Amino acid sequence: MTKILRLSAATLTDVGKRRERNQDNVTEYVPDDPDLLAERGALFVVADGMGGHAAGEIASQIAVETIREQYFLQRDEDIITALARAIEAANNAIFDHAREHQAHGGMGTTCVLVVLAGGRAYFANIGDSRAYLLREGEFRQVTRDHSWVAEQVRAGILTEEQARTHPHRNVITRSLGTQPEITADLFIEIIHEGDRVLLCSDGLHGYVTEDDIQRVVTEQVPEDGVQRLIDMANANGGPDNITAVIVELKEVPAVTEELRLPAAVGVGAGRAAVDASLITTLPIPRISSSGHRTADAPGLAPAAAAVAADGKAARRGGSSAGARRRRTPWPMVALRVVAAAALLIFAVGMWDITFGPFAAQRAGSAQLQQDIAAAQSAARAATTQNPTTALNLLSTAQQRLQHDLATLPADAQTRAQAQQTLQQQVAPAVRLAVTTYNQQNGIVTIPATAVTAYTVSCAASLASGQAALAAAGPPAPAAGQTVAPVALYALAGNGAVYLLTLAGNTATCGAAPLIALGVKALATDGPRLYALAQQTNKQWVVLAVDGSGKASAVATLPADAAHTPLTLAAHNGDLYIAFAGATPESGGVWHFTSATPQDQLARTITVPQGINALAVTAAGKPFALLLDGSLVSFDAAGHLAQPTVAVATPVPGIDPSTYTVATPVPTLPPTATPAPPAPTATPATGQAPGTLAGTPAASPSTTTGATPGATASATTTTGATATATPAATAPGTLAVGRATFGGTTSLSAERAAGGTLEVGDGSLPRVVRFAVVGMSLTVQREYVYGAPLQPLQSVTTSPDGTQLYAWSGAQLVAIALPS
Ligand code: CA
Repeated sequence: MTKILRLSAATLTDVGKRRERNQDNVTEYVPDDPDLLAERGALFVVADGMGGHAAGEIASQIAVETIREQYFLQRDEDIITALARAIEAANNAIFDHAREHQAHGGMGTTCVLVVLAGGRAYFANIGDSRAYLLREGEFRQVTRDHSWVAEQVRAGILTEEQARTHPHRNVITRSLGTQPEITADLFIEIIHEGDRVLLCSDGLHGYVTEDDIQRVVTEQVPEDGVQRLIDMANANGGPDNITAVIVELKEVPAVTEELRLPAAVGVGAGRAAVDASLITTLPIPRISSSGHRTADAPGLAPAAAAVAADGKAARRGGSSAGARRRRTPWPMVALRVVAAAALLIFAVGMWDITFGPFAAQRAGSAQLQQDIAAAQSAARAATTQNPTTALNLLSTAQQRLQHDLATLPADAQTRAQAQQTLQQQVAPAVRLAVTTYNQQNGIVTIPATAVTAYTVSCAASLASGQAALAAAGPPAPAAGQTVAPVALYALAGNGAVYLLTLAGNTATCGAAPLIALGVKALATDGPRLYALAQQTNKQWVVLAVDGSGKASAVATLPADAAHTPLTLAAHNGDLYIAFAGATPESGGVWHFTSATPQDQLARTITVPQGINALAVTAAGKPFALLLDGSLVSFDAAGHLAQPTVAVATPVPGIDPSTYTVATPVPTLPPTATPAPPAPTATPATGQAPGTLAGTPAASPSTTTGATPGATASATTTTGATATATPAATAPGTLAVGRATFGGTTSLSAERAAGGTLEVGDGSLPRVVRFAVVGMSLTVQREYVYGAPLQPLQSVTTSPDGTQLYAWSGAQLVAIALPS
């Protein structure tokens, strides 16, 4: 009786212990129709997605669903072509989705699949999810990871052991959906009854040893096995999403047909490579589904040409990354060089080789050659990687190379080659990566030419830059003027307010202060100035100051021993005054609406943290910077909302236009969001359109706010924890949330059309400008500064948004903002 395919299979996926979302997806399809089963077989797919804002799980879901659907639709095609088409369709679907949804830019996924049909198993993979085969007690990995560490191991640069613990072990070099074209690896096996197949994501194989995995796959039935594997990964911390598929082959049809390779794939040298007895794993060089965007491309033809030539991979019209992978790896070249050198040295004398300085120099040179190879590899990869990954890899490579260059004996030629590698390969790669990173994240370096420093005539009165600044004026220049006139006010340490007149490089203070003392904070509202002040009778008030300097109280504050006013902001006559509560964590905002004769306290908004700064946007939206470094907005009813928006961390201290290797390559700090981000997909080939790093995206996450009310009594805050849903962000970025901005921060908003919000960051040399649209924020620009500017204090924006005023050290500076 003819045997048919009978199998027992189980699939399971689990979020793990530390992630908030499960970005893995898994699917299976075992046709009920016996004809379809005989012809197409059974399909199992695992995908491990990456990308913030739910993009990862969407990418992996599109992958598994598209492949399942498309594979079984391609009934006119042979199995390999059908698989290639299905993978191509999935790649297109994800790539197109990412282009249409800006928040999902850079989304991608790994993919490993197996088709069990006609006595054979067809494995395909992209990325670092794996397929294993268990046969008669032997358990082995069928697929080859497309990961940075795996490539380093294959090139002989890293050992397996080093790779397991390497900080970049999560960096994958190929992924589905990040490029318009994709190349998958294909492996074909003849299957036997009793074989078991395991597909899994790195959440399993990265955290459970192969021995343990083998034991479970061997001893347990599939249903118990997948559960046990996930339990083990979770027992080891469960840091990642975990997915496992176990298929046990109970009955397998005999292999009757010759393996039908797509005609094009089978010609030339490729044919000989696959046409053996097919008992062992046979990687067919590539399936390329490069027909994308060229509807008339006949399926696999482009790949065919590549394979047909000489087995070397090539990509039609694409980059040469594929070919590079086939080149003799550098370490091999280095080893050959060293071997040749060793033979020559042999003639010099046995003692010298084994014990003498030659031996030390030889070892040093060999080590340096390895470092050079690693640096060259990092520099090459940097042209296609996302810049965060590129910089981190370049940093490691540069440090090792410079360290060994300084400490190891090596021959002159190798030393020269090391220097050359640093200058001619590492430095340009760093410049490119920083430039790309800055472009992707709206980061602009403030040039020295944009900075004007002023000598302040009343500097002594201002206590050398301890003063706060406020800029008042119309939001746009009048007709015929290029720059709107700005009145700049400075608040002295003793509570006096001065009007500064800027001319040339001098800021001249008025003959006498506008207000003599008692002022704690300033705010502007278009051309108007407001001052938060304590009068001689201890009463706290808000003063409105007119053009002639005449101040009159417009609001009387309900301040007492438990409520200390801190700062204020104003918009169209509405006043917001932040106060400290009895504890550092309690406090809030009094909102006064304009009325006559005095403004009225409309509501008290409680805030879960002390307040650092306040500002109101052109649209009248108030924002507060809290002491924990987070940014919150509140609505008319006093509810708090915490916008989530990724803010990229600037690359410290590097101006890409002048970078040299004398400066260590900076590494970008890992994300500080509670859930670690998915590993960053780094396409192996081609340009990387819209790669992951910090694609700014905003979606407000409103949290239930504090109790609104018209009473001035302190309310213990309940439910006002403005914790935003942590946005999964790319490495090197922070969601605006806890601890985004540090140190003494400032907040100001400009009034020009559109309306923006500027945050002067006290912990990094930057001013972040957000565009505020409705409830959401997007990063418009990150202005990064370096020498000669010192940390900017009391940053304020001109009402037309074109200038920043700040104290830099003891100096008043104006900065013309580059666009
Ligand atoms: Ca994973």
